[in-house]
Amino acid sequence: MATKISGSNGNANKRARSARTFTEIAKDYIGLDGEEAFCKIDPTSECKLRQPKLDVGNFIRHFRSQHPELSTEYGLLKEFDSSAKKARLIPKRLVPVDHQLLVEYVIKMIANRNLPISFVDWDETKLLLDRLSEAVGPGISFNGKIAKNHLQAAAGKVKSAIADEMKNKLISIKLDSASRHNRHVLCINAQYCIRDEIVIRTLGILEIKESQTANLLKQKIMNTLTSYGMTLDQVFSMVVDNGANMLAAVRKLKEELVMLSLREDDDSEKNFESNDTLTASL
Ligand SMILES: [Zn+2]
Repeated sequence: MATKISGSNGNANKRARSARTFTEIAKDYIGLDGEEAFCKIDPTSECKLRQPKLDVGNFIRHFRSQHPELSTEYGLLKEFDSSAKKARLIPKRLVPVDHQLLVEYVIKMIANRNLPISFVDWDETKLLLDRLSEAVGPGISFNGKIAKNHLQAAAGKVKSAIADEMKNKLISIKLDSASRHNRHVLCINAQYCIRDEIVIRTLGILEIKESQTANLLKQKIMNTLTSYGMTLDQVFSMVVDNGANMLAAVRKLKEELVMLSLREDDDSEKNFESNDTLTASL
């Protein structure tokens, strides 16, 4: 019990001492004899240091080098140890950053580097993002769900840009299916011309969980094309692998197209009319 009390007193003394400057502490151990100053830190020592004029800095250096133990006890040493224990002072920096920029970088990491969406929820990522979010402003936080929403929005923009590109163009569709580790995907690419340049755009990479019948493939292809605002009569050609179901799916799409054109024949006159007006207005 007694040690505990003396210990806490010691700490209190240390704190009180550390609040004083080295100069203030040192002055207690410098004797004055008129203008002359002399060392009196250790009355038991033979130290005879006298200086014609008081220069506290000199005495502090003297105490530290010649009376190190007492210097430590009286708090005259630079406290390297205790300063290391102090919380590191992290400078605040001014950099241009806003919410939009943060979202953009996070989305890029997921979209371009194949990081899982859940990486946003990793503890380590949170540390970084929370720090940045704090700089951006209160109420901004990230999680996998928010990242997913942003990704979907970004994908939507890309999709509508591709749809705009393909509008009123003849499109060549390339279909390819692949399987690995019991997962089956159907990849649908579109090939078309923009200003005499052939471009290829991926319209969809669909995971097919059902059995890949011709009807199912046809439906998946149709859904993808219509989601880009495409109509079957825009399809100039279809390139597929030799899979029987794939070939059958294309045949079914062809039938659909024939039916479509038969239906459209009914209002072909109307189409002609509108074409004429378009040419006239041009
Ligand atoms: Zn001395």
